[in-house]
Amino acid sequence: MSRGSPAAFASYPTGLLMPVLLIVSAVLLAACAPHSAQEPAPAASASDRNTPSELPATSELVRLHERFRVDGLTEREFTHRELWTAIEPLVERSPVLERSEIGRSAEGRPIYAVRYGHGSTTVLLWSQMHGDESTATMTLADIFRFLADSAEHPLAARLAEKLTLVMVPMLNPDGAERFQRHNAFGIDVNRDARALSTPEGRALQALQQRLKPEFGFNLHDQNVRTRVGGSERLAAIALLAPAYDESRDYNEVRSRARQVAAVIRQAVEPLVGGHIARYDDTFNPRAFGDLIQSWGTSTVLIESGGWKDDPEKQYLRGVNFVGILSALDAIASDAYAGADPALYTTLPQNGRRVSDLLVRGGWLVLPGLAPVRADLTADYADPLRLRGGRITEVGDLTEAIARDTLGVEGLYLHPERDALTDQGGRPSLSVEAPASFVVRRGPEPTSEAVWVVLEGRAEKAGSPAPSPYGGSPPEPG
Ligand SMILES: [Zn+2]
Repeated sequence: MSRGSPAAFASYPTGLLMPVLLIVSAVLLAACAPHSAQEPAPAASASDRNTPSELPATSELVRLHERFRVDGLTEREFTHRELWTAIEPLVERSPVLERSEIGRSAEGRPIYAVRYGHGSTTVLLWSQMHGDESTATMTLADIFRFLADSAEHPLAARLAEKLTLVMVPMLNPDGAERFQRHNAFGIDVNRDARALSTPEGRALQALQQRLKPEFGFNLHDQNVRTRVGGSERLAAIALLAPAYDESRDYNEVRSRARQVAAVIRQAVEPLVGGHIARYDDTFNPRAFGDLIQSWGTSTVLIESGGWKDDPEKQYLRGVNFVGILSALDAIASDAYAGADPALYTTLPQNGRRVSDLLVRGGWLVLPGLAPVRADLTADYADPLRLRGGRITEVGDLTEAIARDTLGVEGLYLHPERDALTDQGGRPSLSVEAPASFVVRRGPEPTSEAVWVVLEGRAEKAGSPAPSPYGGSPPEPG
């Protein structure tokens, strides 16, 4: 196993790799939601010289995902009942999967764990401790289906022999019911690892204490506006081997987690190359990933971010499938121990968060005042579905970057009535107001309308469609 330096990665002849990447991507794309090409990734930086040869190829896992994707889950938003309606039949009829209740949510919904395998290495995976972060829950459902329906598959057999997997696919069902981050008390379960005020947090902590797993997978979704490092590219996946204390040192437990993260990077690089980031490793004494690491479980955080034309995160669901199964297989075979930690440490960090919408080059019109030159940015309440856009900044936004840009050079923005605050008969525009206005050719309210923007969604004036964005955000990458 070579221990390549970052310089060694850069010198790897990526020309050999690219055709393989394209084929693999094509297979996954065919299996997933409609999707258009991303901005070409920069040269893949992970050398496949580090791939332990016994690991299944990314392309094979992509095909498995195509075959075993659970049908009932096609949108990001689903309830506890909908999840279990989709997966209960396959879990219950399977002799290799065992479901147990590990606790109840604040509102009394059962929190289930699904166990697989009889190996000596225990691995704990949990998803959706934030109720609106469901990508990996769909992935775990697909993994259940794979394990239930193909126990004779060499990969499933290896996992069963070497590992005991305990998987909690929806730790915060009350949050999922409302599709919100927090639990029914408004508490962030992932900031409750120390206080253990929530029944959801207590269930996870008790499970970890009972199992004392060697490895843990903390599965989340991150802000879809996040870029990779200083680049313009979306972070599709962010990885973290969390710190176990303020020093951010690497002890044996965290070092193992770093190598598992390296395996994941390598596995998903053909699918989201150039769009993988490293999550901030500042120690958080309230967060589960950090504390579980300190409790002796080598824990990796996987954050699913954004991907072009993937509003329901079906592409990233498949990417998670590839990453998680690759990591589990590497743990089962101990191949992770040969993974190059630099594959993790050389990942660029999560970069800045960009705006959802930039309206550039216009003049802002308020009743009774002279128009002023002003750009404008807005963010959506639901950035994947482009709903509920509100103004975040007004003024000189020359340096701003957004997922969508509407150029209105020389045109006039007339805010809609509900975007204006009226104080003593003097209407004003404020940040946080709905991003609703008509773009006209002149400052007069009667001049010709060009665009109608309603809560950030723009349409050509006088025609119901199409939106200038085609209904999905044209990401720079
Ligand atoms: Zn989260």
